[in-house]
Amino acid sequence: MILDQVGKPLALRESPTPEPRGCEVQLQVLACAVCRTDLHVVDGELPNPKLPLIIGHEIVGRVTRLGEQATLLSVGQRVGVPWLGWTDGECSYCRSGNENLCPRARFTGYTLDGGYAEFTVADERYCVSLPESYSDAEAAPLLCAGLIGYRSLVRAGDAKRLGIYGFGAAAHIIAQVAVHQGRSVFAFTRRGDHEAQKFARGLGAVWVGGSDERPPEELDAAIIFAPVGALVPAALAAVRKGAIVVCGGIHMSGIPSFPYDLLWGERTVCSIANLTRKDAADFMSIAPKVPVRTTTQPFRLEQANEALSQLRSGKLQGAAVLLPSQS
Ligand SMILES: [Zn+2]
Ligand SMILES: [Zn+2]
Repeated sequence: MILDQVGKPLALRESPTPEPRGCEVQLQVLACAVCRTDLHVVDGELPNPKLPLIIGHEIVGRVTRLGEQATLLSVGQRVGVPWLGWTDGECSYCRSGNENLCPRARFTGYTLDGGYAEFTVADERYCVSLPESYSDAEAAPLLCAGLIGYRSLVRAGDAKRLGIYGFGAAAHIIAQVAVHQGRSVFAFTRRGDHEAQKFARGLGAVWVGGSDERPPEELDAAIIFAPVGALVPAALAAVRKGAIVVCGGIHMSGIPSFPYDLLWGERTVCSIANLTRKDAADFMSIAPKVPVRTTTQPFRLEQANEALSQLRSGKLQGAAVLLPSQS
């Protein structure tokens, strides 16, 4: 599925099987989950994508060929390919454990070709080992919804009463981890979205409501996964003094101005940018212990635009997953 220009749906056309170079491996794509970031790329909301581009950054693949310098992986191995595809390893961010902020970083399905395809290539040093217990489709959403969600949860600190705004793919994974850690999850959905509210309750949320509602108690932290800037003041109004509001998405609509009172009391607002390889290793070791169960809706590769439009309309429960090898 190739994106020739932003603002257009993807076109399905034959692309040559990519050759692995250097530290890259060639992968047969077994599954690729569909992320809201894919919509932001297609819509042109993120600057300077590689064009033409194959999107998709939650790839489960089987190694089919090795580049001449690849030594870590072997042919036949199943691995995951996440959003972080390459970093320079030498800048001050990389050297201080913050490779997610590397100014020269390359990202799968944005500045590198991704997984809406039958084959792809990835730098083996950025591939993620996957827990055996997950099927290809079940593992795919762990690779972004899970990883970025987990980084957001870690940033929320030891908050006991945790608000989650936007109950999609990331929230459905992270709510399970939070409940497993003994936290109380307060789930905020679009007003009147009873399906999403039922889904959140089923995953252990102690309270569910519309994002315009105030929770029954003050929260210790909130994570915003919905790309809606108006949720920032809403979340600030719902948290206690000293609490943090974590914005987990890569893109958000403008944040409306709000009274300083909402920030007063040493409240913090922060964003989560990308992920590190350590986040991936940490999360993949925790996920099977919870155990995190992913709710997925399968699509064939040629249904990618349909999957994206269902995500856009909020119709999906859990995560859409493309299964190219079954097309
Ligand atoms: Zn760097
Ligand atoms: Zn993503």
